[in-house]
Amino acid sequence: MQRTVTDVTIVGSGIAGSVLSLLLKRRGIKHVLLAREERKSIQLSETLPPSTLPLLEQMDLLELFEESSSRTFGYHSIWGSEHVISDDFFNHNPFKFGLKLDKPKLLGEFRKLNQDNILSFNSLLDVDVIDGRAFVTIAVEKEEHLIESKLVIDATGRNSAVLKQLGVLTESFDELISFTCHLPFKKHPNLIHKVFVESFEQGWGIVSSLNKEINVMTIFTQKGSAVHQQLKSYRNWNDILQPTQGLKFFLEENYEAKVIGGNANSSKASKIAGNHWLSLGDAAISFDPLSSHGVSNAIYCANEAANSIQVFLEKGATQSLNDYGHKLSSIFQAYLEHKSKLYNTEKRWSDSSFWQNARTTSTENRREPISSVSDQKI
Ligand SMILES: Cc1cc2nc3c(=O)[nH]c(=O)nc-3n(C[C@H](O)[C@H](O)[C@H](O)COP(=O)(O)OP(=O)(O)OC[C@H]3O[C@@H](n4cnc5c(N)ncnc54)[C@H](O)[C@@H]3O)c2cc1C
Repeated sequence: MQRTVTDVTIVGSGIAGSVLSLLLKRRGIKHVLLAREERKSIQLSETLPPSTLPLLEQMDLLELFEESSSRTFGYHSIWGSEHVISDDFFNHNPFKFGLKLDKPKLLGEFRKLNQDNILSFNSLLDVDVIDGRAFVTIAVEKEEHLIESKLVIDATGRNSAVLKQLGVLTESFDELISFTCHLPFKKHPNLIHKVFVESFEQGWGIVSSLNKEINVMTIFTQKGSAVHQQLKSYRNWNDILQPTQGLKFFLEENYEAKVIGGNANSSKASKIAGNHWLSLGDAAISFDPLSSHGVSNAIYCANEAANSIQVFLEKGATQSLNDYGHKLSSIFQAYLEHKSKLYNTEKRWSDSSFWQNARTTSTENRREPISSVSDQKI
């Protein structure tokens, strides 16, 4: 078995893990970034709001993100009434635009910058913390490889793969699920911006252009709702979205789109950091995509984690890791309140169980912690 000894092992090379690796490299902190072979999934069209750009600028990452994005100047929504509302970013300060990420390109750029620290692997076999040392065992082309370090970081997104191995449970605050497909690009004649959101009786949907050829459409509903099973097949989308004003416009007739389901619930690790480990991004706290803050959260966590890790390595004090955990917990609490306010601005469909659940405060919806929801079938 091959063996590597380092200071920090990051598991997961999405945005959270990649940003953290770059920040540790800049600080001269010895680490390994474990990058699993990417599995095929549908490309999303994620947006960073203007409010995140000052953080990127402060972290000296704005240029890198801009090079792998296009600018976006606002979005439209039909939410809470039948009228179209526009949020125009040119009213925002100091940045009057947001970014639409080309995530594969961005992650490719990070891979180049982090290449000296990357260890590619096929599967995560085991994670353990024994006597103040973290041990991660991975499979690389059928060979086992052991990485020993002072700290192990879970950056595996909603899979929370490291937390699972450490026996840390994930608390779920709702049962939101998503169904996404790619459709031929269409521009609505009355809409300027390329992002459109609309609520309907059993959930809500978003259309966001990926490029000049593709619109990404995602419909969100609640597990077990009247449309949950039907949404799995694109053939049913036309019927489901008939009552909408705008979403139905973006559908393509006589078209076979592949629909990919996933979890989109709000969740939080029951413990975000502990002795010799911490979690970040979606693995620590994951947000409802309505917030449009998942990627911003991953960046913010990586920045905070880099500070805590440096203090931990220099002073050996686990307090910095606990402080990091508390900070993220309070951010998540504030997020839950904000989310509840957002859903409460939609007062229509008082009999719909989706809206009844969405409007109740998320802490009332809190589920018993489970080891993780993301591997469950939708
Ligand atoms: C439909 C939808 C739309 C969204 N839209 C937006 C948006 O507009 N704006 C926004 O900011 N956010 C949006 N989000 C949220 C955003 O995508 C996530 O919050 C963000 O990507 C989280 O980054 P992460 O690095 O924490 O996790 P991930 O991006 O999930 O990265 C996790 C990494 O860990 C790896 N990994 C997973 N399991 C294992 C394992 N067992 N072993 C090893 N490696 C593993 C994965 O391969 C991946 O590289 C959206 C989410 C959804 C579902």
